Amino acid sequence: MRKIFALILVALSMLIVGCGGGKGTDGKLRIVTSFYPIYLDTINLAKGINDVEVVNLTKPQVGCLHDYQLTTEDMKTLETADIFVVNGFGMESFLDKVIDNQPDLKVIDLSKVDDISPIVEDGEINPHVWLSVTYDKRQVIELSNRLSELDPNHALEYKKNALDYVTRLDALREQMHNELDFLPHKDIVTFHEAFPYFAKEFDLNVVAVVEREPGTEPTPKELEEIIEKLKGVDTKVIFTEPQYSPKAAETIARETGAKIYPLDPIVTGESTPDHADDYIERMLENMSTLQTALK
Ligand SMILES: [Zn+2]
Repeated sequence: MRKIFALILVALSMLIVGCGGGKGTDGKLRIVTSFYPIYLDTINLAKGINDVEVVNLTKPQVGCLHDYQLTTEDMKTLETADIFVVNGFGMESFLDKVIDNQPDLKVIDLSKVDDISPIVEDGEINPHVWLSVTYDKRQVIELSNRLSELDPNHALEYKKNALDYVTRLDALREQMHNELDFLPHKDIVTFHEAFPYFAKEFDLNVVAVVEREPGTEPTPKELEEIIEKLKGVDTKVIFTEPQYSPKAAETIARETGAKIYPLDPIVTGESTPDHADDYIERMLENMSTLQTALK
């Protein structure tokens, strides 16, 4: 009798300690995200859920994942994941390799959303959809639905958090429209190919892009073309990204008299839960930069 009682006690304590049965600390469900904007969406949905932990795969300074190669450390992190959340649209070019290595890993691919119309350039889908507030919101809703399916114990919490965050994203979008819709100038030059969805949402016209691939300096011919295009524009502004060197933009500015401002694609940042408001805060900063630059 005593033995049975002891066994029941052990079983009960196991239930309490490892209640999630996940791969994280103390059996928490461990969600790994591919990079910063996906991390921000996910921590907003996991807010206040004690037995779910969210870890960002890539380091704070990595930024966009174009041509990113997984490190040994990244592979180890992925082995500890219960769920892996990715942006998709080709941003994670290593995704096939991950699925080959870990066929049982549950992957949430946020490009599998019906109501996102991808922008195709030179035969490739531009992956920077999160910079449209509308599309970011759709990714959040999709993420909430998929997390609720894979982790039904917390479905109510995910859905409640999604509702809160989506309400705030709607307010952000409305505020940005109120402030940006009537700007007298709409032509912008951006640093890399990050802003077409943003531009489309706020009716801006991307005249030229300084670096097609971030980290690859434009050729002299490309520089010349950008300079020529910019000469035909009334209000000459170039937007650089805090993540990359402004050298090429400075050259163009010298030749054209353009002004340089920072515009943030929100791809780098410390991956800690206290950054949950980063997307909204940095979008508001982008809004006020545009107001100054395009008035
Ligand atoms: Zn990018």
